[in-house]
Amino acid sequence: MTQASQTSRSDLVGCPHCGKRNRISAAARGVARCGSCRGLLPWLTEATDADFDAVAVQSSLPVLLDLWAPWCGPCRMVAPGVERAAQQFAGRLKVVKVNVDHSPNTAARYQAQSIPLLLVLQDGEVVARQLGAVPRTRCCAGSRAPCRPRSDTPSMNRVDGGAPIMTNDEVARNLQTMDELDFRAWNGADWHGSFARCHTDDVVVELHGQPRTHGIDEHIDAMKAIVDSAGGTPPQVASHPIAFGSGEWTCVVGEFEDGRRMVTIAKWRDGAIAEEHIWL
Ligand SMILES: [Zn+2]
Repeated sequence: MTQASQTSRSDLVGCPHCGKRNRISAAARGVARCGSCRGLLPWLTEATDADFDAVAVQSSLPVLLDLWAPWCGPCRMVAPGVERAAQQFAGRLKVVKVNVDHSPNTAARYQAQSIPLLLVLQDGEVVARQLGAVPRTRCCAGSRAPCRPRSDTPSMNRVDGGAPIMTNDEVARNLQTMDELDFRAWNGADWHGSFARCHTDDVVVELHGQPRTHGIDEHIDAMKAIVDSAGGTPPQVASHPIAFGSGEWTCVVGEFEDGRRMVTIAKWRDGAIAEEHIWL
């Protein structure tokens, strides 16, 4: 049996109420409170295979588990949202980050074929699951190969049937605009109407494998070229099985009618895409 004393690791947590720095043991049970003012502290810590049971499974608070790796760009994108969750849910949630490269057993235990993978755990059991878009084994580690999700990637689940835990209102609005962009503008080849409206005039787009484009006109030309090479009709986007965001970024997987998928990572400015990375 794993004892909490197996890990002596602790984190320094600044109190958002009085400013005092508190040392909190990663394996401490209960709620993290400031030693000075007794205010609730945001709790974000790390675990490895060695101390995962003590830090996460035996936590009396629900755990938001972030399975990530340093080479994974989308993991870096969701990291600020994970940190915000620790602050927003201080006293109600313990946030635990696990580097899957260093902790393969924990990654396997929660079937982290794709990362970032965010799970909400209660007593080690998964009560909610939110997947990122990047297959752990194929993405980004020094290669320019496309990031494609595995075909067995499950749809995103939502916490308590409500909004995904990472989103805020702006992210939700931007994700709605992504729906409009793919289902209406792209599917309908409405380039100069809704497609243009979904982007800023100075949008910078990197369609992987092609030179970067600058400005909406160059972006539209590049998209038209793809449609031409596909026979003149845009391949129809049927669904967005994965969609999440953090701050000014969104990450959306679009599934075409023939089952192929694309990944769009977008940076938003005033409700329009200012920077876009697309893997087709
Ligand atoms: Zn305090």
